[in-house]
Amino acid sequence: MKAPVLAVDMGGTKILAAIISDKYQVLAREYQPTLASEGPQAVIRRLLAAFDRLLSSQKMGPSELGAISLAIAGGMDTEKGLVTSSPNLPGWHDVPLRDMVGEHYGVPTLLVNDSSAAALGEYRLGAGKGTRNMVMLTVGTGIGGGIIIEGKLYTGSSGSAGEIGHMAIDVSGPKCKCGNIGCLEMLASGTAMAREAIRRIRDGQQSILIALVGGNIENITAREVGTAARNGDALAADVILEAATYLGIGLVNMVNIFNPEVIVIGGSVAKLGDLLLEPARQVVKERAFRISANLVRIVPAQLGDDAGVLGAAVFARQRGTK
Ligand SMILES: [Zn+2]
Repeated sequence: MKAPVLAVDMGGTKILAAIISDKYQVLAREYQPTLASEGPQAVIRRLLAAFDRLLSSQKMGPSELGAISLAIAGGMDTEKGLVTSSPNLPGWHDVPLRDMVGEHYGVPTLLVNDSSAAALGEYRLGAGKGTRNMVMLTVGTGIGGGIIIEGKLYTGSSGSAGEIGHMAIDVSGPKCKCGNIGCLEMLASGTAMAREAIRRIRDGQQSILIALVGGNIENITAREVGTAARNGDALAADVILEAATYLGIGLVNMVNIFNPEVIVIGGSVAKLGDLLLEPARQVVKERAFRISANLVRIVPAQLGDDAGVLGAAVFARQRGTK
């Protein structure tokens, strides 16, 4: 397939759409707010309008595309082309997005989970290049994941595999919106760090975080926790260490099950760098099977915001459309 791919990475807050060449160059890209609260119809209209603008910016017609590849933050049935549900996209229940887009343009269209797409992007073009077996975790407001086995994205029977953020870590931990208890996402995501920092401050602990948010502690996010930790704040450093330890326990499970060559950590919280990664690596060293633990490299992602759209394009090419 030589023709370019129109790829999209859609999350709860933003949409990135891009046209990507057969050499994985981003020929054009456009950001849009998702405005997810407006519901699926409005979001899909905005998506199609963004596609039209991108195509006309390249003076292309839809027939010149090899495929359209949709990376969406949600549960899906890839067989039927449905977005089945999504905690980040209210009102999306069994939306036949693949066929709606595919029939509108008359172009072969694929659906893939956004974190899985990011994993595939990092595997082919970023931090996982040159390996065969890779696990990726996207640590942001939630925790997503993707698993590459022998060079192929593992999607599971219906496209739902790779929900690494929803592996149970603490059987008596906080209840997760997925219905499970003590999920990794509830303990090691940016949201979890902010929640824990706020809890400790409400308990009366001192922190420069209070001044960093002008006294409105409910405005604390993982970014402020990182800033405070870098400035020597003990509470913030401890919150990150705790989250990193939980993350490490999650990684131990992945290392023992999959024996990957590399684990790539992306997402906004990964910007904490070694503050997060070093304690997690330590836990892996201490707890995982020795041979697997000695082999695995735990590294930051390289592709930034483009991982999802690049991975979506890789996914389309691997599936060999047109
Ligand atoms: Zn969960």
